[in-house]
Amino acid sequence: MSSQKPYFKILFFLLTALLLLFSFATGYAAMRFAPVSMKAAAVWAMPSLLAAAMAALPIVFYLCLKSGFRTFLFQIANRYCIRVFFPLILFFGERLRIERDLLIQELVQYNNKYVLRKHAGSFEPQRMLVLLPHCLQMRDCDYRVTTDISRCALCGRCSIHKFVELSRKYGVHVQAATGGTLARRIIQELRPRVIIAVACSRDLYSGLSDTFPLPVVGIFNELRHGPCVDTSVDAAKVEETIRELIKPEYVTKSFVQDL
Ligand code: SF4
Repeated sequence: MSSQKPYFKILFFLLTALLLLFSFATGYAAMRFAPVSMKAAAVWAMPSLLAAAMAALPIVFYLCLKSGFRTFLFQIANRYCIRVFFPLILFFGERLRIERDLLIQELVQYNNKYVLRKHAGSFEPQRMLVLLPHCLQMRDCDYRVTTDISRCALCGRCSIHKFVELSRKYGVHVQAATGGTLARRIIQELRPRVIIAVACSRDLYSGLSDTFPLPVVGIFNELRHGPCVDTSVDAAKVEETIRELIKPEYVTKSFVQDL
């Protein structure tokens, strides 16, 4: 990822620049029409204003992120970017034949960096939810871990057993979900203040946008046997993230590498 070009960032600035350009061009046309016909001027002014707003919000978002300055405007810009601007970037990225997964991975990395910088050492473990995809479980396992992860018999054939231990060790909630609907229900019931979500790029992207404005750190699962089947995840990475986010008094000796 670090050796890969920052396509998402490039598209972010390119799209912003195009919107500004469009805004200036239509604004200029509106000014030229104004002395002749106010109606024609208004027709040009409207797209100009819309494009200006569409370009201004990502700029606000970016500047606030960089400076750490938080205003009400940042919340609006953040919401706009997640709901509108980022999907636009993905759309144009795909038209330019840039892999959607690469763009999402880059976006998730930026998101994680931001969440960890802003919220490091802030949470009680009981307010943290580690959300796992059901496909981490071996497909022939008989234990229903989606209702309760502690039903895992700890046989060690898949990553689930490590999360049972992580949950016991740190006191964080760990749940496995079969899809977005169950994930949303779990979040509604537990009302966490922060989520560590393990998923593939498609699910992580929709999860980030569904759970906004809740801080979410995304960790990709590995699809060694194809999507949705016997996937795995680096539990040490999840543990490291837990340790970064929980208050220092709850941080104890790391243990995943011993499992
Ligand atoms: S570790 Fe747990 S969930 Fe995974 S296969 Fe074994 S019993 Fe099933």
